[in-house]
Amino acid sequence: MPRAPAPEDGSLFSFPIAWSLLVTETIRCHWAQKPINIPYHDKEWGVPVHDDRALFEFLILEGAQAGLSWDTILLKRARYREVFDRFDAQKIARYDEKKVRALLADPGIIRNRLKIASTISNAQAFLKIQNEFGSFDSYLWKFVGGKPIQNSWKLHKQVPAKTKESDAMSKDLQKHGFRFVGSTICYAFMQATGMVNDHLVTCFRYVEVNGKIR
Ligand SMILES: [Zn+2]
Repeated sequence: MPRAPAPEDGSLFSFPIAWSLLVTETIRCHWAQKPINIPYHDKEWGVPVHDDRALFEFLILEGAQAGLSWDTILLKRARYREVFDRFDAQKIARYDEKKVRALLADPGIIRNRLKIASTISNAQAFLKIQNEFGSFDSYLWKFVGGKPIQNSWKLHKQVPAKTKESDAMSKDLQKHGFRFVGSTICYAFMQATGMVNDHLVTCFRYVEVNGKIR
């Protein structure tokens, strides 16, 4: 960022504050303030995801987050990918007791027995959905009519924690055997995977995420 010019004549009339207002700063959603979450906000959050493996990863990570901060999950994400076979549901669906014990002993992930057990049963449910609907992608995106819902929030307090779409997704996922998929978890998932654009209109990513796919 350019610095304000130093007053050379000792004049009282240097305007560092006015100068700083002239310099355009990158404006982001209020929650993206730290080195751990800024790159995530700037590159991933809200970009439509259509890859089954990536969708499964987000669903598991959002469920693992329950009761914790998302930053905690971001810090552990690399380890999650490592110990959960890069979220290969075919492999996770076959995890045995020995693997579960190893996961429970791993400080690099959230060591919660119910969350770990749900990852395995969710992998099994995920495979059934793929069989039934062709892909997890086509199954999930039906809940938003196949394309991202474009919101236009001005203030972060306007952003909901859940919606009728996330309620419907939650209910249906549970019907198909998924756990840790309450409506607020589903809504966070929908925001992360771009099913809904919840960047504030003032955020530089608001316009950028439109039309992007990963
Ligand atoms: Zn944003």
